[in-house]
Amino acid sequence: MVLSLWRKIRRTGRVAEPAPPPPDAAAGPAVAELAGSVQIRHVDAGSCNGCEVEIGSAFGPVYDAERYGARLVAAPRHADALLVTGPVTRNMAVALRRTYEATPEPKVVVAVGDCARDCGVFAGSYGVAGAVRDVVPVDVEISGCPPRPEAIVAALRSLTGR
Ligand code: SF4
Repeated sequence: MVLSLWRKIRRTGRVAEPAPPPPDAAAGPAVAELAGSVQIRHVDAGSCNGCEVEIGSAFGPVYDAERYGARLVAAPRHADALLVTGPVTRNMAVALRRTYEATPEPKVVVAVGDCARDCGVFAGSYGVAGAVRDVVPVDVEISGCPPRPEAIVAALRSLTGR
């Protein structure tokens, strides 16, 4: 039984899709220093959670961002990068700033989704302090409402270079 299974595997050979071409490296010296792998702290600064669903997919078994060296961690002290979603609400602005300050250098901030980039559909809302770049420096932006998992994985690959 085991032998016939092994023979079948040998006959079938490799069936996986070939690896995609290497990503374009994102600009900035901090990005160059992170090449290879990146530990990521996700911060929801006021998202509707649509972006979180897509981040979940990006790290799920289909898109599997971890195979490119991207990994989610639970604390900013263990992170190289912040993955920020949503417009920054007034009650999250200080928390985002403190999370940024708690992340060791070199560090990168990735703004995920249209709300993170320019407040999106929440622009002008009384509860919104601004876009992510209004609170902390942003290195990489991912557009979309929400962005597709492929776009999130591509942006993370631009950090790891894998
Ligand atoms: S970009 Fe779209 S999906 Fe993401 S938080 Fe804003 S409204 Fe929600």
